[in-house]
Amino acid sequence: MRRMTFDVVVVGAGPAGALSALLLARAGANVALLDRERFPRDKPCGEFLTPGAAQLLERHGIWPASARPVPGMAVYSVHRAFAHRPCGGGPAGWMARRSDLDARLVEAADSAGARVRQGLAVRGLLRDGDSVVGVATAEGELRARLVIGADGAHSRVARHLGLVRAVPGLQRVAVVTRWRGVEPPELLEMRARAGAVCGIGPLGADSLNLTLVERTGLAARIAGRAGDFLVERTRTLWPDLAERLAGGRRESVRTIGCFGHFCRRASAPGALVAGDAAAFVDPFTGEGVYFALRGAELAADAALEALRAGDFSAPGLAGYDRARGDLARRHLLSGCVQGVVRAPALLDRALQALSRCPALADRLMGVLADLHPPGRALSARMALGLLLAR
Ligand SMILES: Cc1cc2nc3c(=O)[nH]c(=O)nc-3n(C[C@H](O)[C@H](O)[C@H](O)COP(=O)(O)OP(=O)(O)OC[C@H]3O[C@@H](n4cnc5c(N)ncnc54)[C@H](O)[C@@H]3O)c2cc1C
Repeated sequence: MRRMTFDVVVVGAGPAGALSALLLARAGANVALLDRERFPRDKPCGEFLTPGAAQLLERHGIWPASARPVPGMAVYSVHRAFAHRPCGGGPAGWMARRSDLDARLVEAADSAGARVRQGLAVRGLLRDGDSVVGVATAEGELRARLVIGADGAHSRVARHLGLVRAVPGLQRVAVVTRWRGVEPPELLEMRARAGAVCGIGPLGADSLNLTLVERTGLAARIAGRAGDFLVERTRTLWPDLAERLAGGRRESVRTIGCFGHFCRRASAPGALVAGDAAAFVDPFTGEGVYFALRGAELAADAALEALRAGDFSAPGLAGYDRARGDLARRHLLSGCVQGVVRAPALLDRALQALSRCPALADRLMGVLADLHPPGRALSARMALGLLLAR
């Protein structure tokens, strides 16, 4: 790939990058998709897809073979429990292995004509004055009229563009495991206790994904012994869960630092950022893949418009930031959910309100399922309903 020129170079082939490249290639653009890893690769993740994410995948003809419907969600605080199944009987979401989902998206981008290059890391951006005009890799330079940074939560592209702002208070460490030989829960379970948040999702007839998210202060206790830490922690906080795991075997264990951040803009001259590169909120309700896929649709639209107009300047790309308005509001809602989850008294109260008021629960869960605009839940009425219900 020495000194090649493309319409668009997409950095990162996770859901945001692979779908961006797929849509651009289908529209006839000359696009390169680069990832430092080789697929199938595993991304530490709770592996839950919201119904909104599933609709997006279906819209573009992608469906992971491992996908399995989840009929509802159950949330447990210290004193309360709340379970929800969508009215109408459809699934509350899907569990799908990320190794499968992400490889499927990369294959589809490749089949659509994107030039896919795996095992090649981007080291930096090429510039002409203020404008990004390509990327630098170990194998040489790739020139492009537009670069899309979809290189995940620790995005090099977003950092090089100087766009990243950390969100104080959203720094976590996560232990992500898969278990076999255990009875999976029927519903997706989310449990919050003593600053820890745990998600348990049914992956198959005898397997589950268990993701534990902790404060970064515990990172030293987790380092080098994540599997043992997880077992000890479940024994202390959720003995019933520890019992369920006791007869099974751990298939995999990964540790990852999660640092909440957002970009003050998602565009710069000659570049866009999408997916976790644009914003990341510790995803209690499992919506990161939706953000990535929806962000990819918007990035592909903006890139095609810029290619048509031949305008890659800041004003020429500013429409992308405007189009991301609903995503920004959805991130804000996730941040609010995080705030409630980390405050035990507030969480107890909110779960009680949701249990007592099905209309409120349907409204909130419909938005968290990515089926309705975030404005429907970001309202004083919703906040008062959750906090004042008796
Ligand atoms: C603990 C945890 C649990 C989660 N659970 C869920 C869940 O249940 N449901 C959900 O929807 N979301 C969940 N998420 C969020 C979800 O995983 C992300 O939002 C999603 O993966 C974002 O997709 P992406 O394409 O933006 O980034 P990624 O999937 O991270 O892909 C980025 C890609 O960029 C590549 N890359 C990075 N740097 C470079 C470079 N310099 N050069 C070339 N390539 C590069 C990487 O190899 C990677 O393949 C979870 C996240 C965490 C941390």
